[in-house]
Amino acid sequence: MFGPLLELKQQQHKLLGRFKNCQRCELRFQEKLENCPYCAHLDETGLAELLHKKEKMYRSRRELGIWFFLSSSIIIALLLLFNRLF
Ligand SMILES: [Zn+2]
Repeated sequence: MFGPLLELKQQQHKLLGRFKNCQRCELRFQEKLENCPYCAHLDETGLAELLHKKEKMYRSRRELGIWFFLSSSIIIALLLLFNRLF
């Protein structure tokens, strides 16, 4: 059942290659690249801006996760309530 999925995953892995974490900005990039495409061309100020953007993106994703959790909890609570009423 998972055979075709595994083959697809292996093909994707061959196509993209392995990834490594950048020592400087901690973003992931393809191992076959010599320098990090995100921060190699940046000076210290540019790197600080990139890290700030990364942090902001991380926070907004976390907030989105919290909102999804809260809204799904409310929906489940309403469903349970209506189930008891009718
Ligand atoms: Zn980097």
